[in-house]
Amino acid sequence: MKCSGEENFTRGSITPYGNIEMSPGAGILNYGQGLLEGLKAQRTEDGRVLLFRPEENAERMKIGAERMCMRSPSTEQFVEAVKQTVLANKHWVPPPGKGSLYIRPLLIGTGPVLGLEPAPEFTFLIYVSPVRNFHTGPLNLVIEDTIHRATPGGTGGIKTVTNYSPVYKARALAKAKGFSDVLFLDAVTKKNIEELSSCNIFIVKDDVISTPATHGTILPGITRKSIIEIALSLGYQVKERVIPVEDLLEADEVFCTGTAVVLNPVFSVTYQNKRVEYKIGAEAVYKKLYVMLTGIQTGRIEDNMGWTVEVD
Ligand code: PMP
Repeated sequence: MKCSGEENFTRGSITPYGNIEMSPGAGILNYGQGLLEGLKAQRTEDGRVLLFRPEENAERMKIGAERMCMRSPSTEQFVEAVKQTVLANKHWVPPPGKGSLYIRPLLIGTGPVLGLEPAPEFTFLIYVSPVRNFHTGPLNLVIEDTIHRATPGGTGGIKTVTNYSPVYKARALAKAKGFSDVLFLDAVTKKNIEELSSCNIFIVKDDVISTPATHGTILPGITRKSIIEIALSLGYQVKERVIPVEDLLEADEVFCTGTAVVLNPVFSVTYQNKRVEYKIGAEAVYKKLYVMLTGIQTGRIEDNMGWTVEVD
């Protein structure tokens, strides 16, 4: 049975930001049939506007669409639509060092469907918003072992809109206790770390960098993938593996990655009332990775990886 595949989304147009109309029976409203993506456009010192690996977002959306029984745009159509949207909003891309233009593609079931079936019609849309650089300072995380964001065979490995609803309560509880965010464990053994509410996690021990292998319950972040490739290019050993909580508690450094947070150091983790602190600052491994990643994204460092796409 094939319920997904590529669709040529026609009738595309650039319209002023505003509400959209859909049937009360829309698949997205009733059954959460929807995918989101997130990427950024950055302005360089010499005035160019760069996207970072947009084809990776397109590919991730296609994989998500297959799992969600949705028809999705081709990679070419996705990237072209992102470019056109950014081009039409070029004046909103902040100057270098002042932030970026956040781009939010959505693929949603907008056709009406009363029974539990894929929506008969899908809408692919993109909206953008200027955002400041994310400055929270080092994070203080708490490990959550009763609420889970993903289970094996579920949708944790794709970017469906419904992945975020299991997270609200855990985050609210953590924030009420003064933590910055929640670190989720695997739902089966409750022994291994997975990821935060909206970013991936890395640990560093004796200069070896490790991150949980994704295995379908962790979102394969594009920043995660890029950090792995940067770390390897800088000569670090990188392991994608199962990471028990004990390894996290014994790590030298911990950091998380994502389009919004870029690369954010973790200062402390609290697990069953035990609090552990990590190395932060100029000498840390994560700093070198951060400098390289943001250098490429903003055009300050030559992009030998071929990751950036100019919008013109
Ligand atoms: N995990 C989750 C659950 C996320 O929502 C995100 C943000 N997309 C990430 C990880 C990081 O992914 P990326 O680096 O592609 O932004």
